[in-house]
Amino acid sequence: MSQIQPIRGMNDVLPTQVAAWQWLESVARELLAAYGYEEIRVPVVEQTQLFRRAIGEFTDVVEKEMYSFVDQGGEHLTLRPEATAGIVRAMISNGLLRGARHRLWFTGPMFRHEKPQKGRFRQFHQVDVEAIGFEGPDVDAELIALTARLWKRIGITRVSLNVNSLGTPEARRAYRELLVAYFRSHHARLDEDSRRRLEGNPLRILDSKNPEMQAIVAGAPLLTEHLDPESRAHFDALCAMLRDLDIPFTVNPRLVRGLDYYSRTVFEWITDALGSQDAVCSGGRYDGLISQLGGDPTPAIGFAMGVERVVALIEQAGTAPAAAGADVYLVAMGDAALRAALRLAEALRDALPGRRVELNVGGGNFKAQFRRADRSGARLAVVIGEDELARGVVQLKPLRDAAAAQVEVPLPAAPGEIGGWLARDAGR
Ligand code: ATP
Ligand code: MG
Repeated sequence: MSQIQPIRGMNDVLPTQVAAWQWLESVARELLAAYGYEEIRVPVVEQTQLFRRAIGEFTDVVEKEMYSFVDQGGEHLTLRPEATAGIVRAMISNGLLRGARHRLWFTGPMFRHEKPQKGRFRQFHQVDVEAIGFEGPDVDAELIALTARLWKRIGITRVSLNVNSLGTPEARRAYRELLVAYFRSHHARLDEDSRRRLEGNPLRILDSKNPEMQAIVAGAPLLTEHLDPESRAHFDALCAMLRDLDIPFTVNPRLVRGLDYYSRTVFEWITDALGSQDAVCSGGRYDGLISQLGGDPTPAIGFAMGVERVVALIEQAGTAPAAAGADVYLVAMGDAALRAALRLAEALRDALPGRRVELNVGGGNFKAQFRRADRSGARLAVVIGEDELARGVVQLKPLRDAAAAQVEVPLPAAPGEIGGWLARDAGR
């Protein structure tokens, strides 16, 4: 029969790769808790309208990347391409805003129908962090400090921080006029996407990934030179706080971010270690989004980190701790001994929670069983043969130290003896 093919751009994470993922998740989880962030879990699917309204019509995501479908009940649904919209929807639907403040985080797969390539997939994962109900710039600085600390904890150094301010929507409207005038004067050189965006959302043109557009984009007027005074003060305060915290950054006036709902602070961590997919963590303030989705006007800021890209950095840096092997491997010869070993393995799991206890299942002679014991990484083999069974004992055989002697212990005392042996061994 023909094989069923995997979906392009959707990856399996195999057991050999999963250690780095788990490590990143556990470090992030611990760090987020330490900064006072609470986990929230939202559905994979939302109404298509939510993303259209939140992300904006003239974005790559909404224009061409959404996995949208009509379900059996005729509802227009979309696999989430990002997490912020769903989290904000959840806050509104559950009546949790009303002036309250929330520090939230989320992790899970996102879906975008992009051209799959290195570091760019159709199913990818994000760790998403949102601070809702805070005006900043203090919380902006704290969020960025959290990301800087995460890189330090996971041993990643080849990342650098870009920051910018998009001002208020009013300031952007005035700037937009300038931008439209500028791009109109270069209309002949605009690509098809940019021509369409010229009317809908000309700021998006600045975010163009088309190399042929770069020269025109480089000559465009700068938003940072047309900021409203409050946004300017907000941005200056953020920059001062980042300097206080010794977090190096570059002000990048071209940083506009791919999604429509940002205002004031935007930031992006980029790397020079992954080729052209260089954004590893992007975020910004979205003071207008919540009211745009029908909630009480609430200021907020958040970021999303691309897990696959950060895992690639971890793999390159080789900083993830090695996957743990087994602690104990039970070797049993004969049916009756196997039954005793099965019971002993369960007794060990009762007595030694957290220890990895592997039983030799699937038979094999002593040689084959010891070979598997060795591969399991176990420090101790527990051996039960017919002779041991008849005498009510087991042999404890150290596997990592050729000089260490094998000892015989009574079967009922085995869990205590094995626990003691493992504790002494760990202390050596
Ligand atoms: P890019 O400029 O690389 O397309 P983006 O602006 O679309 O990124 P966001 O929507 O802000 O990115 O998502 C936040 C992070 O998620 C990115 O910085 C990146 O690390 C990661 N990311 C985004 N799209 C993908 C993808 N298709 N595959 C893997 N990671 C992705
Ligand atoms: Mg993108």
